[in-house]
Amino acid sequence: MTKKELEDFCLSINETKYRASQIRNWIYLKNASNFDMMTDLSRKFRDKINEVLRISTYKIRQKQISLDGTVKYLLEFEDGSCVEAVLMRFDNRENLTACVSSQVGCQMGCKFCATAKRGFIRNLEPFEIVEQVLAIQNDLKLKVTNVVFMGQGEPLQNLDNVLKAIEILNNEFQIGKRRITLSTCGVVSGINKLAEINFQPNLAISVHCSNDKKRSEIMPINKKYPINVLIQSLKDFVNVTKNRVTIEYTLIGEYNDSIYDARELSLLIKDLKCNINLIIYNPVLGDKFKRPEKISIQKFKYILEQSGKKVTIRLERGADIDAACGQLSGKYFEKN
Ligand code: SF4
Repeated sequence: MTKKELEDFCLSINETKYRASQIRNWIYLKNASNFDMMTDLSRKFRDKINEVLRISTYKIRQKQISLDGTVKYLLEFEDGSCVEAVLMRFDNRENLTACVSSQVGCQMGCKFCATAKRGFIRNLEPFEIVEQVLAIQNDLKLKVTNVVFMGQGEPLQNLDNVLKAIEILNNEFQIGKRRITLSTCGVVSGINKLAEINFQPNLAISVHCSNDKKRSEIMPINKKYPINVLIQSLKDFVNVTKNRVTIEYTLIGEYNDSIYDARELSLLIKDLKCNINLIIYNPVLGDKFKRPEKISIQKFKYILEQSGKKVTIRLERGADIDAACGQLSGKYFEKN
């Protein structure tokens, strides 16, 4: 619930709006997992809300902890659907980043993705998205500072629910809009909607290939929205929001990591206000793609930097656990 919804609820049971602020603070900011922990509420009031409200609905099915501090959860909702949520910590930074899922499974069919292998099951409700952050906070007794929508699912295929979840993360968890990132595989209709509402959180786009032929091979969305259409929609988005976008490019060994690919990408995004985030491919068991060589990564980065853009290589997190999206649930469902 948003604070406004909590206020309406309190008024409906003849309580003051102030009670809503207290409940809001306990749940979203102080990691209360049950109403009995809310000691500044009277026992009578706690009993009353206990009868009609629940704080969360998930169960933690599995938890994996990486040597680098990454923690990956497999969460199960009431209908038995499972999604992954990951907490990532980065050295020398106080940021605690939650990577959340927006759908159970995914229909976009990207060839390098473990989630795609499960197909699409259903959209997540706003509370199920928010509960992933709650689950992490409550389990680790920490405050999440950043959220990225890079888990299972394509957020722009579940836009209304994702926007509602972002509203709660921003207003109730008090996570700044610029600390929230929505990542899309390139659903242009959704990007246009984000431009229409002047979406202020960060927008990251999985580009991964610099021409239609290769991109369509690994990302079926490219057949619907070819790469030039995608780049034009991003330019329009930047014009409206005045915010730089992030181009995500996963380097796959001997597939899209050549000097030629780097030059082609430079040219493609020459006039786009963007940063570039290079991701090193984390192989999914049994797939045909492989990690790129270190030398290819460095050359690729160097060429892109020549175009004056800021280029970062995403720090690898959770390499010793199943941290790529869909890997943990994939294994869970193979076993069960
Ligand atoms: S990479 Fe993202 S958009 Fe593509 S299939 Fe996987 S979850 Fe869906």
